[in-house]
Amino acid sequence: MVVTRFAPSPTGYLHIGGLRTALYSYLWAKKNNGKFLFRIEDTDLARNSKEAVDAILEAFKWLGLAHEGEVVYQSKRFELYKGYVQKLLDEGKAYKCYMSKEELDALREEQSARKERPHYDGRYRDFTGTPPKGVEPVIRIKAPMSGVVSFVDGVKGEICFNATDILDDFIIARSDGTPTYNFVVVIDDALMGVNEVIRGDDHVSNTPKQIILYEALGFEIPKFYHVPMILNPEGKKLSKRDGAVDVMDYKREGYLPEALLNFLIRLGWSHGDQEIFSRDEMEALFNPNTINKSASAYNQEKLLWLNAHYIKQASYERLVEELRFFGVDLSLHVKKVLLIDALKERAKTLVEFARLAKEILETPTCYDEKAVEKFLNDDAVIVLEHYFEALKGEKTMHTAGEFETFTKVFLEKKGLKLKDLAQGIRIAMVGSSVSPSIFDVLEIIGYENVLERIQKLIS
Ligand code: GLU
Repeated sequence: MVVTRFAPSPTGYLHIGGLRTALYSYLWAKKNNGKFLFRIEDTDLARNSKEAVDAILEAFKWLGLAHEGEVVYQSKRFELYKGYVQKLLDEGKAYKCYMSKEELDALREEQSARKERPHYDGRYRDFTGTPPKGVEPVIRIKAPMSGVVSFVDGVKGEICFNATDILDDFIIARSDGTPTYNFVVVIDDALMGVNEVIRGDDHVSNTPKQIILYEALGFEIPKFYHVPMILNPEGKKLSKRDGAVDVMDYKREGYLPEALLNFLIRLGWSHGDQEIFSRDEMEALFNPNTINKSASAYNQEKLLWLNAHYIKQASYERLVEELRFFGVDLSLHVKKVLLIDALKERAKTLVEFARLAKEILETPTCYDEKAVEKFLNDDAVIVLEHYFEALKGEKTMHTAGEFETFTKVFLEKKGLKLKDLAQGIRIAMVGSSVSPSIFDVLEIIGYENVLERIQKLIS
């Protein structure tokens, strides 16, 4: 069975790079009827926060990416890790290193004078003497001193590391007894049964160390997929400006979760030239073996395009629900269907949708100056005044069709065209010269309010 996981370090919010690898892990588990597990890597007690954990879990809830079983917290497993440190010590696969700060500084100096990379020289590897006083030892793993550590990455192909180039007897437990990052990742992945690891390629250099630990601990080595970075359109690291923000900011900015997920699946993976993927298609088609080998570029326009697509597809009930979050409650509005139909083709985000809806639902408190200057000269105001009087003399109108017929008759009598009146009505209704079909807008606003809004503008 395929078992994948997402293992964020809760040092900050969840960003899209992390979310993308989580999505890939989730989809790959789904496709294989496997399991997607969740682990919080909170061993760095100084940098972790409960708020960050809550925010990450909230984001997953919003996105509908459910994991199996309980969330595993590394901070609750120190005793377990200690047991494995002891096991490796007992088996002679790890050892206590008593190197003092002074010794380390001297070693670093020598190495830098010889222009060597800084590395531990194994001086306590076979130490059998009396431990020096006053030094709490760290525990180091006996790493291979020669040869190659290699693995076949599902994205990048074979990756080899020369033991002498990069590996020394690295620390698995600090002098205060706390285990190090690579050590706990291996224990957890192995004990949780994770056999396919999909993660960012910033972790490639950790992988040989982890492989050494898998071998020392006698655990099966999982398959690794290291996903290339997401870059901004200029080919640089993503900054806040180009979207390296809290995933929940996408919610606050009015993106639908399915748009964000659809955007992310394509950011680094493709299936022919297909752009739109339903959730079912994502689960059926995604394959980490076809993840792009090169970095992908973040494209805000594409995200907006996808969001507009999913807004158009969304049901009325869904949009009513979503818009509540943006301060628009349409649940009791008699014309909600018409309003949603009028706006869903125009709004690229829910924030824009809510703004356009409010423009129609609320009497304008100010008017767009440019529109007034351009469309409301004295003649136009007079036309609007006549229209107001005529409308007032009519019996109540309800539908867009009724408003339209009335308006046509009015214009014919005056020998005018719709363009002589339409922008004036728009400004009166929504405060600017941009709105959906004018007669739909009149129907949504309703006869009494239409009169009130025209009066407000011309008085
Ligand atoms: N906790 C690591 C991170 O947030 C991920 C570790 C892993 O995926 O192996 O970058």
